[in-house]
Amino acid sequence: MDLSIYLSIALVFFFIEHRFSYRPTSLKNRLYYLVRDLPFALVNLLLPPFLIKKVIFFYSDFLNKTIPNFNFLFPREEMNGIGILVVGFVISDFIGFILHRYLYHGVLFKYFHSVHHNGDVVRWHSAYRFNPFELVLTTSIIYMLFYPIGIPPELFYKLSLYNLLINYLNHSELPLGHPLIEKFFVTPNYHVIHHSVEPGDQRSNFGGVFTIWDTIWKTKNEKKFLLNKKLGTSL
Ligand SMILES: [Zn+2]
Ligand SMILES: [Zn+2]
Repeated sequence: MDLSIYLSIALVFFFIEHRFSYRPTSLKNRLYYLVRDLPFALVNLLLPPFLIKKVIFFYSDFLNKTIPNFNFLFPREEMNGIGILVVGFVISDFIGFILHRYLYHGVLFKYFHSVHHNGDVVRWHSAYRFNPFELVLTTSIIYMLFYPIGIPPELFYKLSLYNLLINYLNHSELPLGHPLIEKFFVTPNYHVIHHSVEPGDQRSNFGGVFTIWDTIWKTKNEKKFLLNKKLGTSL
């Protein structure tokens, strides 16, 4: 997507969060933390897309060469429209949940996902605070499932963009959340619990977009707001 659109959306989030944050603070403080996350934003806007394209290329080439008469499960012409976007969202969110729950909060936490948790504030730009290789791994696994189904790369890129915007929102300090909404969807109030230093809290609310996975896996934490909780990593 055009860089100017990314910048405009980022600017809107910066000022809306400043105006409506549940942790009122100075603009200087907001700028300080934004600048601290900028290297993550720069690296993660450039490196993962580049590496993911390489993975996609080698993977599709490999499938086409090794499986005689390789065919997509569904014809690509049928893989358009809002229905498939929703299906894509559900699949990618589920894979993201499973990796987050078992892999990044298990064996690979120290090397990958702890980067996302070691900030003492959680703001919209925390959506960029990731080890780039975690993003490459997660996204590549999702695409490896999408490709044989026939989901085209354009739809995959659209999903990544929507995911980024949802991540901006869910990492923001906007006091948004309601038990009714959280029956189905992750909100900023819901996700910030996952960023608490308390190990019990950190091992809950793994969902990215939908909360149903946490409900099914019994990792849903319906604690009320965390205004005075310390955020960061428990390690
Ligand atoms: Zn996490
Ligand atoms: Zn997070």
